[in-house]
Amino acid sequence: MKKVAVIGSGFSSLSAASHLAKAGYEVSIYEKNETIGGRCRQLVKNGFTFDMGPSWYWMPDIFEDYFNDFGHSASDFYELERLDPGYQIVFKDRTLPIAASVEGIAEAFEQIEPGSGNKLKAFLKKAATNYTIAIKKIVLRPGKSPLELVTPETVVRVGQFLRSVGDEVKKFFKSPELRSALEFPVLFLGAKPENTPSFYIFMNHADYGLGTWHPKGGMYEIVKGMQKVAEGLGVQIHTSNAVQNINIDAKGRATGITLSNGEHITADYVLSGADYHHSETLLPERYRQYSEAYWNKRTFAPSSLLFYVGFNTKLDKKLLHHNLFFDTDFKEHARVIYDHPEWPSDPLFYANFPSITDTSMAPEGKEAGFFLIPIAPGIEDTQKLRDHFFSLLIARLEHFSGQELSQHIEFVESFCVKDFVEAYNSFKGNAYGLANTLRQTAFLRPKLQSKKVNNLFFTGQLTVPGPGVPPALISGKLVAQLIQEQES
Ligand SMILES: Cc1cc2nc3c(=O)[nH]c(=O)nc-3n(C[C@H](O)[C@H](O)[C@H](O)COP(=O)(O)OP(=O)(O)OC[C@H]3O[C@@H](n4cnc5c(N)ncnc54)[C@H](O)[C@@H]3O)c2cc1C
Repeated sequence: MKKVAVIGSGFSSLSAASHLAKAGYEVSIYEKNETIGGRCRQLVKNGFTFDMGPSWYWMPDIFEDYFNDFGHSASDFYELERLDPGYQIVFKDRTLPIAASVEGIAEAFEQIEPGSGNKLKAFLKKAATNYTIAIKKIVLRPGKSPLELVTPETVVRVGQFLRSVGDEVKKFFKSPELRSALEFPVLFLGAKPENTPSFYIFMNHADYGLGTWHPKGGMYEIVKGMQKVAEGLGVQIHTSNAVQNINIDAKGRATGITLSNGEHITADYVLSGADYHHSETLLPERYRQYSEAYWNKRTFAPSSLLFYVGFNTKLDKKLLHHNLFFDTDFKEHARVIYDHPEWPSDPLFYANFPSITDTSMAPEGKEAGFFLIPIAPGIEDTQKLRDHFFSLLIARLEHFSGQELSQHIEFVESFCVKDFVEAYNSFKGNAYGLANTLRQTAFLRPKLQSKKVNNLFFTGQLTVPGPGVPPALISGKLVAQLIQEQES
């Protein structure tokens, strides 16, 4: 049995490990943190449960495909509920609920811009077609060559790779509110709508067409399910085991890894699901493929200022499970993330209260709150700044809900740039990897297989296909296939 040493235990590593174990490899995972799941760890405090990273369960088909690959269904591990409304967007003068049906969303659009309901249906038809092409034809390719993108379906859509999502949305809708509502899903890809190819409007199908779901107990239930699958296939998982070096022999082959406790682990293949930049720093310099200058020139997805808040009261009914506070200038906030990195003066933010729909997330009569402000990676991170933005955020929430909240805060925990670096060895504290811009799509992303060390592989949100939980599941499957191809 050939041995594979996997670095990290995020979704991509867990996925790769299970696919490889199923194919007959002996697989061991080494994770630096005490618990597995990578960015999707869980914080449990005073009876409250918080997902520390991802909270939007989109593309249920990808999760189902993943568990089907191992003879399971997602429902073997957790119970899914489709949220209705999926979420709401809070604008300055009104809110836009995103219903669980296209008809319902179209009605809400009509109230903002007459005639936009039918335009939405046409827009979503295009988005659904792109989704099918993306999932069936593009995303499952390993990003080795530009030819992978050349299919009968993509050739006729080449223009969609040259126009931006921003341009496409503008063609259909006049209202700035509707435009920002439709641009929101591409923020998951880590870049501004103006810099994301319009082909990616398939994310709008993922949003309005496939819906927003909640796994009962929170997103960590997915990790637990994946752990059961992996361990059932014989994968050994070692937590609190940071990898310090990837070892290379005189012939330039990886021979295994060295842990921070000095232990050497031999392996036929080394696969890293830790952030790509960090993974390469584990190598002697001459075996690194990408320079510091290369990484500094990339467009990274934002970092985030996060708060996990235990409220000792239930919240006003105006707040939903997922709430996007788009009541300030979207463009100005994007500018200080991507063009001129600094703290936003008037940030957009996301507020998540899973206990509104799932009573297991907070003690009775209380509410679990998770808040996220997207910020530029690498910017200054101090307690003073965190405190300032927390007060600002609570004031905006109180203003919207009309409920006095500051007296009802049982505790607040925060997480920001410094924590991303310390917890995950993240480059500049990025929250979700390398953005999917035109120049950083498919074969233009850092490669799954090292060009310098033949038996060294990478997976996760900095390589193909990109940021997000569903892409991480796919990334693990792709790299497992590449390793198997080495054998033939
Ligand atoms: C705040 C936030 C919100 C998000 N929201 C969503 C969402 O709602 N929906 C969605 O789909 N996606 C979301 N994402 C993105 C999604 O969580 C990530 O894209 C995905 O989890 C990345 O998985 P990964 O396997 O690539 O990497 P990671 O999860 O980062 O896993 C890498 C692992 O490697 C470990 N590691 C690092 N260095 C070493 C070392 N030297 N030795 C051993 N182990 C090491 C790390 O500790 C980590 O566990 C969000 C991310 C964040 C941070």
